[in-house]
Amino acid sequence: MSGIDIAFTLISGVLGLFIGSFLNVLIYRIPNGEDFVRGRSHCPKCGHDLAALDLVPVFSFLALGRRCRYCKAPISGRYAFVELLTGGLFAISWILTRGISPWLALPLDAFCASALVALFILHDGHRPPKALYLVLAGFGVLVASWALFTW
Ligand SMILES: [Zn+2]
Repeated sequence: MSGIDIAFTLISGVLGLFIGSFLNVLIYRIPNGEDFVRGRSHCPKCGHDLAALDLVPVFSFLALGRRCRYCKAPISGRYAFVELLTGGLFAISWILTRGISPWLALPLDAFCASALVALFILHDGHRPPKALYLVLAGFGVLVASWALFTW
């Protein structure tokens, strides 16, 4: 791996951390019927709006001692886990696709992100929306056919 490959792998991983933070929002809000585009993130215990500094993936979780800055309620380690998992998957997807086509990493990332949202919603005992399965299938077919025709 060249220096530029390592740099792009790290960039993909960091991008994945931030996307993972958004996936946490989707996993929490979709089953509750909440708007996930608008509406600020808030503490599920005290309801206080979270500031930008409270939302830095993994870092905020560790820096705040795994507790809400405002009410000191413990924050589930699952938020950081989802962020790290997404970061890791994005880095791996970059490594896997860089020899085929660097743009292939985008639909593969989207596939991984949709799969994570569906899996965690299922894990929480809710039913993911049907549209999410369509998104998942769409990106899956795109990645499979792209990889098949460019390999
Ligand atoms: Zn709180």
